[in-house]
Amino acid sequence: MEKDSYGNEVSKLARPLPVEYLLLDVPASTPLTPLNTFTSIKDITKFPVENRLIDGHIQDFDSLCKYLRQFTPLQFYESISDFHFLLYIATMDMLPMKDSMAPLLEAIKTNDKQAVVEWSRSDVWATLEQLISNTSDSAVSGHVGNGFASVQTESWTCIHCTFMNNSDRQSCDICRLPRDIN
Ligand SMILES: [Zn+2]
Repeated sequence: MEKDSYGNEVSKLARPLPVEYLLLDVPASTPLTPLNTFTSIKDITKFPVENRLIDGHIQDFDSLCKYLRQFTPLQFYESISDFHFLLYIATMDMLPMKDSMAPLLEAIKTNDKQAVVEWSRSDVWATLEQLISNTSDSAVSGHVGNGFASVQTESWTCIHCTFMNNSDRQSCDICRLPRDIN
């Protein structure tokens, strides 16, 4: 607020508009020591990104299973430190984990692998693992340890309507659109 010569607050007309009103300070710098919150390993297909359906990114329980199966039980920390994955499990329909995730997020933030692994023994994660192993058709034979390393399911997800089709189908059973072959 501007003040007039008597000390009263007055609003001033910005006419003509002073150019400095339009200037913004934009900090542009890079840290001397980069600090990454999330680790990344090579040869891992990243978890799909939310709101990018048009690019074929589908976040569903099937993609969650596929994503987690790329990791061995010892790689829990690596598997869980993915922003899009965390966002998905926090809000997913089947088992929203948001309320149980505070210790996990804190542990990831502080790079505390021990605490992350401890969190993986929580009830909510055990429930998710149960769901994963129930979902995969042929998981029984390949079920090892944390349940990630089970056999890949023989299905594909339609990029148009997200229906899970059998692998022998060349077009979607629901919307009839052709399977997208990359
Ligand atoms: Zn479809």
